[in-house]
Amino acid sequence: MAVTAQRRLVLLGATGSIGRSTLDIVEQAPDAFAVEAVAGGYDVAALAEVAIRSGARFAAIRDESRYGDLKAALAGSGVEAAAGAKSIVEAALRPADIVVGAISGAAGVEPTYAALAEGRTVALANKECLVCAGAPFMRTVAERNVTLLPLDSEHDALWQALGGADAKTVEKLIITASGGPFRTWTRAQIEAATREQALRHPNWSMGRKITIDSATMMNKGLELIEARHLFGVAPDKLDVLVHPQSIVHGLVAFADGSVTASLYVPDMRVPIAHCLAWPERLQTNARRLDLGEIATLTFERPDLGRFPALGVAMDAMRQGGGMPTVLNAANEIAVEAFLDGRIGFSDIARLVGQACEEALRANDAREPATVEEALAVDHIVRERSRTILASKPLSGMVTVQ
Ligand code: NAD
Ligand code: MG
Repeated sequence: MAVTAQRRLVLLGATGSIGRSTLDIVEQAPDAFAVEAVAGGYDVAALAEVAIRSGARFAAIRDESRYGDLKAALAGSGVEAAAGAKSIVEAALRPADIVVGAISGAAGVEPTYAALAEGRTVALANKECLVCAGAPFMRTVAERNVTLLPLDSEHDALWQALGGADAKTVEKLIITASGGPFRTWTRAQIEAATREQALRHPNWSMGRKITIDSATMMNKGLELIEARHLFGVAPDKLDVLVHPQSIVHGLVAFADGSVTASLYVPDMRVPIAHCLAWPERLQTNARRLDLGEIATLTFERPDLGRFPALGVAMDAMRQGGGMPTVLNAANEIAVEAFLDGRIGFSDIARLVGQACEEALRANDAREPATVEEALAVDHIVRERSRTILASKPLSGMVTVQ
């Protein structure tokens, strides 16, 4: 089965894990899709390769200094090269039926928002957009009546499990978490976790930032905030269950006691195919789910004692206003510092918690009314978080040599 009319795609974050899985779906259904533009961050060779392979017309690299290299790498291919922050927005605005938002972090906010504001259908993997600037994003979705497709697996699963029901009428939306590499570790073991251990996710192969977010379980906190915006529900309607097999991705509990769930093997190509073909369905070669072979699905409640980052994120969600913006910015700085070997694993949650407390004390976490306001708060919090890191040890901070 394929889609009835060919769909033109723009891939923001084309060289990343989601970008490449998207290209794989496109290659499995070459009649269904055409790639108009690809955009990436800093890797010229990778971007040129995906641009040529996908037959894109336009390729944009964030790193402005690499324009000459990209142009050279694309020479003779017929793909137009562009570089710099503006070129990523330009890619987002190329004519397309669907823009796939798969940049990592708040770096994706501006181009993804530009596409939405232009009325483009966006399939969103880049959850940090909604954590940083959820209110302005959703206001634009409503005002412009644009389609925002949830590509993150849990949110795709909730969408499928809702089966057209209005999320506001249901009792609970539950997302699952694998629990990451440290699910069974003690608090002391987690405190001493190394970067290599944190980067080894048991079920998913993903970019480095989201892999660390999965190890701290901050990822689930970001996803709760993402769900709050996507489905327009209050925080008390949202829940998390740890499910180590990563087969059930989301569950919807209805007022009559029924629960529906969406299940698939842990392979992002499944939700990507669902979003790209919706409301039709694509034939994919994803591994089929065989519950008879898996035999056992288990569930447990998250342990906020061992995974404090999830608790910090839940608090930020309940506090609302600009707190999720603060949370996201501080987390990006903390993950970067951990990946650079400057702080220990447990310091990630400490730094984010401290940045949130400071924002509350300074009373400067109003809900951003516009994307520009959200990015201004993001900028301030990044600076503040860097200052916290440079000036004093975080309480109980582990020093990394
Ligand atoms: P990744 O690190 O593998 O890829 C990120 C992409 O963004 C790359 O193409 C990179 O070049 C590009 N990029 C980075 N900075 C940029 C910038 N300033 N401007 C333009 N492009 C830039 O990350 P990923 O794992 O593919 O994740 C992408 C997003 O999707 C994240 O928000 C993540 O949370 C979300 N997500 C990922 C998965 C997954 O399985 N990987 C699942 C669900 C959601
Ligand atoms: Mg997810």
